[in-house]
Amino acid sequence: MNRNRHVYVHVPFCTRRCSYCDFAIAVRRRVPVREFVRGVANELVARAVASHAVDTIYLGGGTPSRLGGDGVAALLDVVRQRCEPQSGAEITIEVNPEDVSREDARAWVAAGVNRVSLGVQSFHDSVLAWMHRVHDAHAAVRAMSVLREAGLHDVSVDLIFAVPSSLERDWERDVAQALSLEPTHISLYGLTIESGTPLGRWTERGTVHEAPEESYEREFLHAHRALTDAGYAHYEVSNYGLPGRQARHNSAYWRGVPYLGLGPSAHGYDGRERRWNASAYADWQRLVDTGRDPVGGAEILSLANRDAEAVYLGLRTTGGLEITDAERALARPWEDAGWVTVSPDGVLQCTAFGWLRLDSLAATLTAYRSP
Ligand code: SF4
Repeated sequence: MNRNRHVYVHVPFCTRRCSYCDFAIAVRRRVPVREFVRGVANELVARAVASHAVDTIYLGGGTPSRLGGDGVAALLDVVRQRCEPQSGAEITIEVNPEDVSREDARAWVAAGVNRVSLGVQSFHDSVLAWMHRVHDAHAAVRAMSVLREAGLHDVSVDLIFAVPSSLERDWERDVAQALSLEPTHISLYGLTIESGTPLGRWTERGTVHEAPEESYEREFLHAHRALTDAGYAHYEVSNYGLPGRQARHNSAYWRGVPYLGLGPSAHGYDGRERRWNASAYADWQRLVDTGRDPVGGAEILSLANRDAEAVYLGLRTTGGLEITDAERALARPWEDAGWVTVSPDGVLQCTAFGWLRLDSLAATLTAYRSP
């Protein structure tokens, strides 16, 4: 029986696929709002989710804002029937700028939403067009002010860095413009090239070239300095928040806490087993509408898996990782290189330079722990 304090709902609908995106999405000109909300209600029943209190609800995607004001309210009503937000709960919705209208923003607030993650990515129209984003830079600025007017003051802005140099994007200008909007939180994602995406195909054909590693490092370090100088704390490899504005839902993932995932392709974790739902919208919908659990797969995490995950999660947040004296010796060259710090009580934390080498540091420590 699921009694997790954190609930993720995957809303898969998008207007079109962004050039870099390999998420499980359903491209729809008209969103089947009622059918989707009914599907989530059916999933809660099919999985026998008992009524319980929750601390965070996160509507992610895809593009949850495409449900509109009434659709988000209907979805949250359904989720609340089994997962009742406690007083002060964080309720986040991912929003694309082109979807923000005064009416919908007010309806989201009335439905209990108190945090928005706004997919801005860049303030250059040419870069946004290359990414196949639907909005332009002006839409992002306008969305921010409409959200504020509606009473949504806790807004996180997403930016993508390390785009191909042929796009001649001015990264410093994008970072400055994001800061000028005064969001409470900023997430930075380095562009990754996934096969099967338009970007993957362009790269295979040689019409697009990945940004060199030096650009990745330079842009990340520039943003890191600008954001921390402006008072944002870097608390996770990709995330910066003003004091008290760290994302509570995502922080639960990084602490390895159990959570419930609903909707197509959503993952969940009960502390022992990781499970995921059928990925295609049509498959998920057919299963839940016939009263079946839409599970697509599951794995019990072995002790070795859990250890590896604990290392990776510890290194990616400022919480850090407790290490032994022997591991301290292993980490000494990293300290000398300025990639990590180790506190007197043996907690290893990555610096900004270390976060750029996160995967290799985590792999070395994991291999050391399980020879
Ligand atoms: S809006 Fe988000 S989920 Fe949808 S295609 Fe673009 S990146 Fe992917």
